[in-house]
Amino acid sequence: MMVSTNKEAPATVLLISDNPAIAQLVRESLTVQKGIGFQVEWVRRLTEGLERLGKKGVGAVLLELSLPDSQGMEGFSKLFFAASDIPILILAEKANEALAVEALEHGAQDYLLVSHLDNYTLPRALRNSIERKAIEDALFLERERAVVTLNSIGDAVLSTDLSGCVTYLNVVAEAMTGWNRQEAMGRPLADILHIIDGATGNIARDPTAIALQQDRTWGLTENCVLVRRDGTELAIEDSTAPIHDRSGRILGAVLVFRDVSESRDVSRQIAYRAQHDVLTELPNRMMISDRITQAIALARRENRSLAVMFLDLDHFKYINDSLGHAIGDGLLQSVAKRLVASVRHSDTVSRQGGDEFVILLSEIAHLEDAAKSAEKLLLCLNSAHSVGGYELHSSGSIGISVFPGDGEDAELLVQHADLAMYHAKEEGRNKFQFFRPEMNLKVVERQRIESGLRQALQRNEFLLEYQPKVKLDSGEIIAAEALVRWQHPDRGLIYPSEFVPIAEECGLIVPIGRWVLGEACRQMGAWQQAGLPSLTISVNVSVIEFRDKDFIREVQAILAKTGVVANHIEFEVTERVLMKNAGTAAAVLQELKAMGIRLALDDFGTGYSSLSYLRLFPFDVLKIDRSFVRQIEDVTGDSPIVGAIIAIGKSLNFLIVAEGIETQAQNRYLQEHECAMGQGYLFSRPVPAERFAELLQSATPLRS
Ligand code: C2E
Ligand code: MG
Ligand code: MG
Repeated sequence: MMVSTNKEAPATVLLISDNPAIAQLVRESLTVQKGIGFQVEWVRRLTEGLERLGKKGVGAVLLELSLPDSQGMEGFSKLFFAASDIPILILAEKANEALAVEALEHGAQDYLLVSHLDNYTLPRALRNSIERKAIEDALFLERERAVVTLNSIGDAVLSTDLSGCVTYLNVVAEAMTGWNRQEAMGRPLADILHIIDGATGNIARDPTAIALQQDRTWGLTENCVLVRRDGTELAIEDSTAPIHDRSGRILGAVLVFRDVSESRDVSRQIAYRAQHDVLTELPNRMMISDRITQAIALARRENRSLAVMFLDLDHFKYINDSLGHAIGDGLLQSVAKRLVASVRHSDTVSRQGGDEFVILLSEIAHLEDAAKSAEKLLLCLNSAHSVGGYELHSSGSIGISVFPGDGEDAELLVQHADLAMYHAKEEGRNKFQFFRPEMNLKVVERQRIESGLRQALQRNEFLLEYQPKVKLDSGEIIAAEALVRWQHPDRGLIYPSEFVPIAEECGLIVPIGRWVLGEACRQMGAWQQAGLPSLTISVNVSVIEFRDKDFIREVQAILAKTGVVANHIEFEVTERVLMKNAGTAAAVLQELKAMGIRLALDDFGTGYSSLSYLRLFPFDVLKIDRSFVRQIEDVTGDSPIVGAIIAIGKSLNFLIVAEGIETQAQNRYLQEHECAMGQGYLFSRPVPAERFAELLQSATPLRS
């Protein structure tokens, strides 16, 4: 540290003494050594001394304690108070030495016995005092500055020595812990800083011990809670670092921590909001799903049952529509309260949305338990709810699914409970129903279609319709797409969207596809023999059929049998199914291509494949899905997407065919963007073979 004691300029020494002999002695002692320079100013009374000090410029004070206007310590105290920044040296007779020592204890820099004053002792004592005072002041300032800094930061700061005893606390740390510095100093950290894990309540590891042991900065575990001196708790976040001296030795640790209750509250609130329904404060769909999943895991381990209920209010829409949403909301809140009140503490009531609630009974011994709970829930809804001045009556319908048996996961259990709820409603509302497998309409329907499909093949119930594909500029029919239909004995004509996906799933698509290709080729041969204009025929082929090892051979056999040349046949493959089976499909497509069969990518734009990826497959044609064609607005006649698809497709040398053209505006737009071919209701719906032959023969082009 640099202390400037300007040795060149003469320091002014103020002598306060009523004794002219002493004044003389001082003068002589200080003026002999010239050059070092002390300038003496002499006053005889304390009041004069104080007055002089008020004017500044005094470097040190020589004070005699016995003065005309003051005696003993009193004079010193006044002086010290007035000029604590100036060193004060006491001049004392031997007899008064005790008093001088007392002054020393109260802040005097030094004392000198009058009998010892000489031109060596006095200047030296003065110089030392002035210097020491400067150093002390500087140190004090620095310490003050550090204290001010530590106090002004919003974080709590606490330091310990190597043994983990507290050496310092700033104001924030005092406020947060409830300990003041004096009390805390020297105590073990654990006395002052009682930290627990907020989640478990266990005492947290001493962070300073870890920082000292490992000699590195250490953060507290999440969810840290400080238990304050008065027992109240405060969420904190902290980090601890070792303190080193200049040579790198560890001296202790410093802990910085802050109150995070507010931000922790905020994040807790966000988490709460994500899991709860705003209107009723009940757990939401997401949370109940988690709870059910957890309950399933537990039930599985402990070989127990649980039940999931789906409750839907009866005629809620009527209340909402006739009395308004505010009343509707009020009713939902009232219902929520009652539901919660009528289940056990371990059960969970959640709101799915609208007037639907899902209730988890996490433990049931018998089905009757669930039945009883359902009855109780229905009953609790029945008494009137008073909402916004109205007396409202409500009832609900409940479906129940049980684990194990009705589903292995949360989603299925809720879905089955939902299904059972519909049956409860059908049976007259204000009722509950357990799920039964037959209720699963989708499964039932699927099974019905599947078994129907098997018979359909034997009974020859499939037929083909043909939709013309036209040159957009002339309306001339140049191709046909064969589309399968199922003439069901009871249900009438069924369209492929209802049965093709199921046929794909159960593998029946293989024989069905074989029949379609055989029939389309047979028809094509027949038209050719009848002398109709030649055309290409498109057949939809599912990629699933490619898995059949006989597929290629069957195709070859059909072509050979019907005499249709391969390049009059186009296979349409839908993008979505292709992308799921890209591996197997690529090889088969290459073989088909090698045979001369044209390949089209159907429903392009719905499978999210990139155009460059598609180049890996040997397609000739891209069929733009009708959902894009529909985007071509009648009024503006504009759709940037369709324009872009056409442009990119053409740049990759694909022939572009547009599907589902229904309006002249769409037709015009497509022509303007140089889409050569299309099909759609604007030209013709898919029609039976006879009708198609008529269209083909008639000279008039289709609405160009
Ligand atoms: P796809 O290959 O994209 O066939 C075009 C579908 O769009 C046909 O429906 C057709 O009737 C319909 N469509 C044609 N023009 C218009 C129009 O202007 N507006 C509207 N809204 N629709 C139009 P369909 O016959 O119901 O066939 C549905 C899908 O079933 C076909 O879509 C195809 O993926 C599949 N499919 C049809 N036949 C077979 C088949 O023999 N085998 C296989 N694997 N799938 C087939
Ligand atoms: Mg098609
Ligand atoms: Mg299509």
